[in-house]
Amino acid sequence: MNAVATHCPYCALQCAMGLVPDGRGLKVVARDFPVNEGSLCRKGWSATALLDHPERLRTPLVREKGRLREASWEEALDRVVHGIRAIGERHGADAVAVFGGGGLTNEKAYQLGKFARVALGTAQIDYNGRFCMSSAAAAGMRAFGLDRGLPFPVTDLAGADAVMLVGVNIAETMPPLVRHLRGVRDRGGLIVVDPRRSPTAELAALHLRPRPGTDLALSLGMLHAAVSSGLTDDDHITSRTTGFAEAWRIASRWWPERTEPVTGVAAADLTTAVATLASARNAYILTGRGTEQHSSGADQVSGWINLALALGLPGRPGSGYGCVTGQGNGQGGREHGQKADQLPGYRSITDADARAHVAGVWGVDPDVLPGPGRSAFELLDALGTPGGPRGLLVFGSNPVVSAPDSARVARRLAALDLLVVADLVLSETAALADVVLPVPQWAEEDGTMTNLEGRVLLRRKATEPPPGVRDELRILADLAVRLGQPPERFPVDAEAVFDELRRASAGGPADYAGIGYDRLRAGEALHWPCPAPGHPGTPRPFTERFAHPDGRARFRAVDHRGPAETTDADRPLWLTTGRILAQYQSGAQTRRIAELDAEPFVEVHPDTAAHAGLADGDVARVVSRRGTIVARVRLAPGIRPDTVFTPFHFPGAARANLATNPALDPLSRMPEFKACAVRLEPA
Ligand code: SF4
Repeated sequence: MNAVATHCPYCALQCAMGLVPDGRGLKVVARDFPVNEGSLCRKGWSATALLDHPERLRTPLVREKGRLREASWEEALDRVVHGIRAIGERHGADAVAVFGGGGLTNEKAYQLGKFARVALGTAQIDYNGRFCMSSAAAAGMRAFGLDRGLPFPVTDLAGADAVMLVGVNIAETMPPLVRHLRGVRDRGGLIVVDPRRSPTAELAALHLRPRPGTDLALSLGMLHAAVSSGLTDDDHITSRTTGFAEAWRIASRWWPERTEPVTGVAAADLTTAVATLASARNAYILTGRGTEQHSSGADQVSGWINLALALGLPGRPGSGYGCVTGQGNGQGGREHGQKADQLPGYRSITDADARAHVAGVWGVDPDVLPGPGRSAFELLDALGTPGGPRGLLVFGSNPVVSAPDSARVARRLAALDLLVVADLVLSETAALADVVLPVPQWAEEDGTMTNLEGRVLLRRKATEPPPGVRDELRILADLAVRLGQPPERFPVDAEAVFDELRRASAGGPADYAGIGYDRLRAGEALHWPCPAPGHPGTPRPFTERFAHPDGRARFRAVDHRGPAETTDADRPLWLTTGRILAQYQSGAQTRRIAELDAEPFVEVHPDTAAHAGLADGDVARVVSRRGTIVARVRLAPGIRPDTVFTPFHFPGAARANLATNPALDPLSRMPEFKACAVRLEPA
C-alpha cells in the first residue's frame, strides 16, 4: 500500500515519514529523506496517537456562566465577531491582539498576519517564536544580512572534523540529527557547551560547562585565544568581513585566565576548544536556546558568530555557523508576517517599499496597514491593562505554560474581555478561553513547513479531520467575511494561499516566488531564496557573498553582561530549563500520548542536594523571585553544583515558567528563560 509522504508534526528537523492506514487509524512508516535518513525519534513514531485521542476537541466551546459548553460553529464565530466589534468600538482596533505559533504552516502564519492587519486593523500581533528563535534571528541579520537558521544542509555536517554545539541538546531534541555528527564524534572533534552534562554532552570529546548567563564571556575568551595564538583566518577576515578591529578591542580584554573565574570554564579547556576548531579542515559552530534565551541573547549569539568569522567558518564550503531552530516551523513561522515587526518575505513593516508591495498583493492601501506592534511578552503583559488589548485570539500556542513568569501571564489572560483559542485539545490556555475553536491536526491537512535548513516541505493530507473541526484558514476566512472583508481576500485552499504568499515574498530576503506546490508534489524540497520557477533554490547562500549590500559579514562589538538578576544568600543557585526526549514544547500534545509518558523533575548536583537536605526522588521546591516549582529531585553529578535544571513541558506545580524571568533582550525582545536565581528546599 502506498504511504502518504509527509513530515513529522513536531520539531524543526521536520523528519520525513509516511502514513498508511492501520485498522481504523493511521500508522507511521519510515521514509527516506536527507535530514533523517529514514529514522525518527519516539515523538515522530507515536505522532498518530493524537488523531483519535479521546481528549481531541471535536466541537466549538463557548463560556457560559463560568463554564465551557459545546456550541455550533455559527454561535461560536458570531460570539467572536461580536466580541471583536464591541472591543473595537469602545477601545479601537489595537485593543484586539493576535498571538500565533511557530508550529503553524507557512500558509496559516501568512494568513494570520494578513487577518490581523487587514481584517482587524491591529498592529498587535506576535507569536511564540519570539520565545524561540528571536535572538539568533536578530544576531544573524546583523552579521549576515539574512536570517536562515542553518545556511547549509544538515548533511554537510557529516564531513566536519570539528563541531561545537552551544546550548543545543540534539540527542534529546532532534535525535536523528545525531547521525550526521557520528563522523565528527568518532574523529574526536565534538565540543559541547552546556552547564549540565546532557545526553549530547555525553557524546562529546570536550564538554565546557559555563555558569548560566556567561556564554558571552566564554566566546570573548575564545576569540582572544584564537587571536593571541595566531589561529584566526586573516584572509577571510580581510576579504569577507568588516568590523573586526572594534570586536577585537573588547575581546582583547578577555584573556582566557580572566574569563575562567567569570564562566567557570578552565582556561586550558577553552584554548583546547579553539585549537580543535581552528585546526579542523571543516568546522561548524551551532547555537541553540541555551545561549539564545537570555536578556543578552542577541549579543551572546553575536559573540559566537564573531568567533566563527575570525576562524573563517561562515561562507567557507564545508564549514559555517548556524542556529538549530526549535519549533516545527520556527523558520517559516517568522518569515510570513506573524511577527510584530515584519511583513511577508521577511520584510520590515516600517519599510515603505515593503509596505507598498505587500499592500498591493493584499489589495489594500499601504496607509491602512498598521505599524509595528508589541513583542510577544510585552503583548501578553499588556493584556487587560489600561491602554492594553482587551481581546486576544490565540492560534497554535499555549502561553500559560510556555511564557515566562507564566502565573502573571495567566492573570493577564483572565483579565481580558475576550479570549479566543484555536487548538486541537483543551490546552491550559484554551481552558481559560471564552471561545475555543477546534482545528485539524497535521495529518488532516495540506500545507508547507520550512525546516531548520530553510528547506520548504510539503505536508500532505492523509485522512479527513473529524466532522466538527474547522481548518484555521477557513476560520480566518469566516471571521474576516463577518468583519466585512471580501471573501476573495481570504482564500481557504492552502495552495491558493501559498501562491499568494509567493507573490508577497517575491523580491524579499525570504523569497519563495519560485517554489510552487507542483514542484513540491514532484518531490523537490527547495531551500529559499528561490526567486523563479526553475531556480534550483539556495542551499548555501553565503558561499560567494553575504547578504549585506557590500557582500561582507559584519563583526559586532559586544561585551559580556550577566543575567538580569543575580544570585544572593537567599537564592544562591541558577535555574535553567530545557526539553527532554519524550516531550515537546508546552506538552499540550505529547503529554496526552501514552508512549511519551514522562514525569517532571528537577536535576540537581548531589552536593547541592545534600546541602539542601534532599535525596534522589525527594520532592523539592525551587523558589525564584516570581514563583515556586515543585518537582522530584533527580541527582546528576554532571550538572554544575551552582545550577539546577528542570524541563518546561509540564503544567501545574511543576510548571518551569512559574519561576523564569521575563527580562527582555533589548534587540530581540527574547525573555531570559535560561538563567534565574533560585533556592532549593524540601517541599
Ligand atoms: Fe519529529 Fe523532530 Fe523527532 Fe524528527 S527529531 S521525529 S521532526 S520530533
